[in-house]
Amino acid sequence: MASYLYDVICRRAPAADKVFIENHDGAKTTYGDIASGSARFANALKQLGAQPGDRVAVQVDKSPEALLLYLGCLRAGAVFLPLNTAYTPAEIEYFLGDAKPRVFVCEPGNRDKLAAVATRAGVAHVETLGVKRDGTLMERFSAAAATFCDVERGPDDLAAILYTSGTTGRSKGAMLSHDNLASNARALVDYWRYSDMDVLIHALPIYHTHGLFVATNTMLLAGGTMLFLPKLDGDAIMKLMPRATSMMGVPTFYTRLLQHPGLTRDATKHMRLFISGSAPLLAETHREWKARTGHNILERYGMTETNMNTSNPYDGDRVAGTVGFPLPGVSARIMDPETGAATPQGEIGMIEVKGPNVFKGYWKMPEKTAAEFKPDGFFITGDLGKIDERGYVHIVGRGKDLVISGGFNVYPKEVEDEIDAVPGVIESAVIGVAHADFGEAVTAVVVKDKASTLDEKAVISALAERLAKFKQPKRVIFVDDLPRNAMGKVQKNVLRDAYAKLYSA
Ligand code: AMP
Repeated sequence: MASYLYDVICRRAPAADKVFIENHDGAKTTYGDIASGSARFANALKQLGAQPGDRVAVQVDKSPEALLLYLGCLRAGAVFLPLNTAYTPAEIEYFLGDAKPRVFVCEPGNRDKLAAVATRAGVAHVETLGVKRDGTLMERFSAAAATFCDVERGPDDLAAILYTSGTTGRSKGAMLSHDNLASNARALVDYWRYSDMDVLIHALPIYHTHGLFVATNTMLLAGGTMLFLPKLDGDAIMKLMPRATSMMGVPTFYTRLLQHPGLTRDATKHMRLFISGSAPLLAETHREWKARTGHNILERYGMTETNMNTSNPYDGDRVAGTVGFPLPGVSARIMDPETGAATPQGEIGMIEVKGPNVFKGYWKMPEKTAAEFKPDGFFITGDLGKIDERGYVHIVGRGKDLVISGGFNVYPKEVEDEIDAVPGVIESAVIGVAHADFGEAVTAVVVKDKASTLDEKAVISALAERLAKFKQPKRVIFVDDLPRNAMGKVQKNVLRDAYAKLYSA
């Protein structure tokens, strides 16, 4: 019997004593431990009555054991359902009520406040798993057998449900099949040339597709090693750098490390590959990184629903401000969001994708799922972009972030790029704010250099010659930092809420 995804990513496992994860506290998880540890968790889940297809919801801090639990779920035929550690009990209640998991696993310290929530949501078993290898599930783990006869799961069976971050309305559960994940892991190992010689710095959360699937499945399949950090920590990353060959990060990793005095050409000369994704990497960051280290960051584009869609090439030009080409097996096209027809080459429209990487639909939301797929199977990503004459995909922002001012479409990224080029500006976010005359007014939220004397008027006049009048911001607001989520994405919904009354006050 075989569980398809587990079999694909773990079949070629290197020697049992090779280290797969070296944790920040020094604990080592070998490939042998992967086999035995995932078997122990699979046995524990079976004892708890987990049947094929049952969900196992998990809200725990990052640890090697949490990844073993993910693999144990695959082997037990269960559906792994990781939850952001920032979710509050009220949010957890929604997710548990929606997903109806057989088992809910939380931090030992959260059990008291979450047990009642889980019971109300109808969850049969609440177990705990802590970063010190503690908790009730760890007790079951220790008592369980280290071998397991895997539950048969095929390519189309569900492997995981990941709730999208949901900046509008309720989050939706993206249903990912064994083959959605396996095909993407295969494509990424080949495209990015990962092998058993690789050592990856892993400072991402593991409840999100980036740290969970892009990093972990790829490294397992390659037979490499991961150096685990609980979170982004510039000093800790620089300490690990001499032992690593590669790093995957969100753009904040790169901007933060650029502020580190230890980041030099010498400190990174042995590195093979720096990858960025999950949010746009500023072209400026790409250039600064190249100047400081000699490395071109490889930017790629994906989403929870689709895994990875496009990537800059390994060989060939990694073009700043683009997300590269569709991965092998993935088709991408740009369509007019109003008419649904293909846009002329090079014009901006909705990015649609199709391929074995694209999810099976939203959990218990057939209408929503149907609305986001075209009849020919393409998924409407919600991202606006274009494909240039060389075939590179460019993203200009989320469709819902589009600003419509006086009836004209304004793509925030175009305005942000111009503002970012103004001397003294560090970064910016452009949003639409309700306005009596224009419908929406282009509004810029800007972070400037501490030493800069830049003011609102200076920014607006710097743009006068650069952007058509309707694209120019009506107001410029200075802030110390832009609000970002754990994946480094600017939370434009937070800005829209904060400035909703700007023009009506
Ligand atoms: P998530 O489902 O949390 O991974 O978020 C997916 C969204 O992140 C995409 O739909 C894009 O809007 C954005 N995203 C991911 N990678 C990039 C990138 N390289 N550049 C710009 N946006 C990105």
